[in-house]
Amino acid sequence: MSTLFSKIIEREVPADIVYEDDQVLAFHDINPQAPTHILIIPKKPIATLNDLTEEDQALVGRLPLVAAKLAKQLGFAEEGYRVVMNCNENGGQTVYHIHMHLMGGRRFTWPAG
Ligand code: 5GP
Repeated sequence: MSTLFSKIIEREVPADIVYEDDQVLAFHDINPQAPTHILIIPKKPIATLNDLTEEDQALVGRLPLVAAKLAKQLGFAEEGYRVVMNCNENGGQTVYHIHMHLMGGRRFTWPAG
């Protein structure tokens, strides 16, 4: 099943891409919830966190590494930021291709809503 994010990877849907390597793509969220809101996705189409297998360990481990790299590049690593991965309906997931939200540039509250 092709999702919106597969179409962004294939450049069929435009996005403001900020990072790409052979396994990972990162681009600005179209509806930002913070001054900077980036989505970091594996190019492999994995629908939800529940679908991860042991063989995905290194791939998924790249997502927080890219998040920290971008936070440093964008200048909010020291002041802090939030990363979030939503899973299924109760988690608030709307696009069924796993992704890490990287949000920075403001103070976040806890617990999340
Ligand atoms: P989720 O709710 O699944 O955790 O996050 C999906 C995210 O994708 C949302 O934050 C939403 O704003 C973002 N999004 C939805 N459609 C588009 C789009 O066409 N382009 C981009 N760049 N982001 C999108």
